[in-house]
Amino acid sequence: MPPRPDVPADVPAVALVDLDAIAHNVRVVRRAVGPAQVMAVVKADAYGHGLVPAARAALAGGATWLGVAHVHEALALRAAGVEADVLAWILTPGTDLLPAVRAGVDVSVSAVWALEQLAGAARAAGRRAGVHLEVDTGMSRGGASPAEWPALLDAVAKHVEAGDVQVRGTWAHFASADVPGDPSVPSQLDAFEAALRAARDHGVDPGLRHHANSAAAFFVPQARYDLVRAGLAVYGLSPAPERATGAELGLRPAMTLAARLAHVRRVPAGAGVSYGLTYTVEHDTTLGLVPVGYGDGVPRHASWDGHRSGEVLVGGARRRIAGRVCMDQVVVDLGDDAAAPGDLALVLGPGDDGEATADDWAAAAGTISWEVVTRIGARVPRRYAGALA
Ligand SMILES: *Cc1c(COP(=O)(O)O)cnc(C)c1O
Repeated sequence: MPPRPDVPADVPAVALVDLDAIAHNVRVVRRAVGPAQVMAVVKADAYGHGLVPAARAALAGGATWLGVAHVHEALALRAAGVEADVLAWILTPGTDLLPAVRAGVDVSVSAVWALEQLAGAARAAGRRAGVHLEVDTGMSRGGASPAEWPALLDAVAKHVEAGDVQVRGTWAHFASADVPGDPSVPSQLDAFEAALRAARDHGVDPGLRHHANSAAAFFVPQARYDLVRAGLAVYGLSPAPERATGAELGLRPAMTLAARLAHVRRVPAGAGVSYGLTYTVEHDTTLGLVPVGYGDGVPRHASWDGHRSGEVLVGGARRRIAGRVCMDQVVVDLGDDAAAPGDLALVLGPGDDGEATADDWAAAAGTISWEVVTRIGARVPRRYAGALA
């Protein structure tokens, strides 16, 4: 295990991102899914890890594609000089697709109107647009429904013939690939196979077939096809920790959220703490102020609820949050231990020193680790570590 990067003393809080861990995690996914390729999903600022540095690290680890939700995320990659294949999969009417086509960004379409919009941009740009066709195989989120699919294919065939678009992929998304034996998984795969047959029947070459997220990449071998879209695993977290922990999968969490105590004080038994005074200290105790709050992504749902709360590692031990998580700060109960302003507080990390992991925070807040890391806010500076930094 590489040493934790130094926590700078000049900022109240910092998110340390280990780029070597990201490259390592992509290698782990590649080994698991090969010969399928890996698309590293870097949407939402790379799940809070920083779009461009994370994308570069993922490419260094062998990802051959990058995936984002919005077209502007793809353009930010291009503006930073990232030239790898990029797919953007959320499109609304009115999105200007000309810059995407000019930049060679592939766009996903689920409907004829979206295809027409892309084909129009391609004609304006004077070059073919790369398109991925999204089909709904049962999640009822994005994607053409089985009823809409034939009409979309007809329109695609026409635009391929006209030289407006090139089909580079056909894809779908799982609802429950993390659940062992869930019947929706084979059902979605059957629907995908039917959609691929229909494409060929309409004279449309489906291009790269992709259906798997991180969970399916590890747990559903028959869903790997030509390419897997891995998000969470790239950042070192398990998509199903109750099934296999990140460590069991060979993954390394890339993010550490560290802070410095901003204030330390002694309070007498009976003192109430934070908004609503929902936490009352039973004995005289020492409280430490950790300068991160829900404005930085610490979940307010991880406030003390009378039984438990999120925990912050200070002075070698996990300390519970005393009372409510505020916008900019939380108070932790240090008991009778010595502490001073400036002491290191590890809020979230790989767990190497006993600090809470993203899975622990997810459990404390009743959410998922995806949300925990993705919400680490823009106010927290990112510092990059590792040979790739
Ligand atoms: C976010 C996303 C992924 C990545 O999912 P993980 O569970 O994080 O691996 C893959 N595909 C699509 C369409 C997504 O929106």
